Amino acid sequence: MKYISTRGQAPELSFEEAMLTGLARDGGLYLPAEIPVMSQDDIAALAGQPYEEIAFRVMWPYVSGSFAEDEFKEIIARAYEGFGHDARAPLKQLNENHFLLELFHGPTLAFKDFAMQLIGQLFQVALKRRGERVTIVGATSGDTGSAAIDAFRGLDAVDVFILFPHGRVSEVQRRQMTTPADSNVHALAVDGDFDDCQAAVKDMFNDFEFRDGVKLAGVNSINFARVLAQVVYYFSAATSLGAPHRKVSFTVPTGNFGDIFAGYIAKRMGLPIDRLVVATNQNDILHRCLSGQGYFKGDTIPSISPSMDIQVSSNFERALYYAYGEDGSAVAQLMDELKQGGFNVSQGAMEALSENFDSGRVSEDETLATIKATLAHSAELVCPHTAVGIKVAEDHRVTDVPMITLATAHPAKFPAAVEKASDVHPPLPSRMSDLYERPERVTRIANDLGALEDHIKRHIAE
Ligand SMILES: *Cc1c(COP(=O)(O)O)cnc(C)c1O
Repeated sequence: MKYISTRGQAPELSFEEAMLTGLARDGGLYLPAEIPVMSQDDIAALAGQPYEEIAFRVMWPYVSGSFAEDEFKEIIARAYEGFGHDARAPLKQLNENHFLLELFHGPTLAFKDFAMQLIGQLFQVALKRRGERVTIVGATSGDTGSAAIDAFRGLDAVDVFILFPHGRVSEVQRRQMTTPADSNVHALAVDGDFDDCQAAVKDMFNDFEFRDGVKLAGVNSINFARVLAQVVYYFSAATSLGAPHRKVSFTVPTGNFGDIFAGYIAKRMGLPIDRLVVATNQNDILHRCLSGQGYFKGDTIPSISPSMDIQVSSNFERALYYAYGEDGSAVAQLMDELKQGGFNVSQGAMEALSENFDSGRVSEDETLATIKATLAHSAELVCPHTAVGIKVAEDHRVTDVPMITLATAHPAKFPAAVEKASDVHPPLPSRMSDLYERPERVTRIANDLGALEDHIKRHIAE
């Protein structure tokens, strides 16, 4: 499989090259040149299989030129062995026709572990074979960074630097980044917000001298390997509810559009998904755009679902690429307009988006009320991001199609909001109950590209 850029001006790469590169050199995002389609029989045969087996069958066509079959099976096995639930992504029923897909049983209690644990093993195997080392730099609003640090800690082919906004991540998120003792992982508390951190990482990728000097690699959700890992649980969930013989819909608490875009890929692969519903908090640029109001940046307003506090959803570029008929130059032009504040989506592209996506926005009060109501009516304590999803899903649910809401984080990752809503303090799973006692290691640093690059150069292993 070859990988191409959404902006049409970067060289085609193999899976391994696209994974190790992250952002394309024309500023675009990599996508497979063609999306493989699974037959209805092959999809039906996934029902009842272990998660790892489903992962292998769904992802194999995308990676087969880069990894051997047994090697890839071992990578998958290692990626998910640290999860706290044998099903990896269990489904729970909320009411007649509404289900919760629990994606928080990984080592850092958010869905990002599904992709990051896999990518850690993929990087390690690929780099060992090439005899190379890379420096991974990522920006996080909390969950990506903790997932990356856990996935790469102790691997000898990588150094990892994670930029997070100082004072703006939850204590559990911060501790998950600052307590691993491995010398190849580094947490950097930046004086700025998430968009500043994300912009700094983008600037490092565009500083080709620095990029090549430290062999920069990215694992933010723009990395296609991450999207691919997330495609798997759409298949496991849908087939356990009767797909391909029955359609299902998904509602996805959305920030950077990576998770829901994986659902779109699953649909293009032949999984009978009826609707893909984007759920946003008060940072609702995607909801406004999908409601026909154009894609215009505002200011990020901090919320109780901080992993969705985003103004520019990087992966939306991939959806636009398909909505604009795979026209890279049209996408490049939109992204230029975005630098000036935003753009309107053409009528044809809006129609293409509406064929697959719905959307809804949830206020802070509605989020708290949904946490409370879900505990009262379904005996489930949910995190604020999941609550945003549940509320939007209930608004979009129809009787004859099961709705699956993605439960993106464990409630114990966001204890303050959960307790405020429900009066219940969510305990950490016992396997990490000493998190608050472990010593922390973190560098506070100015929001300044020079200072950041200098720090990274001085701290990578020789
Ligand atoms: C990252 C994250 C999201 C948003 O996912 P995207 O792929 O960025 O849209 C939602 N909820 C939680 C808990 C997250 O960590």
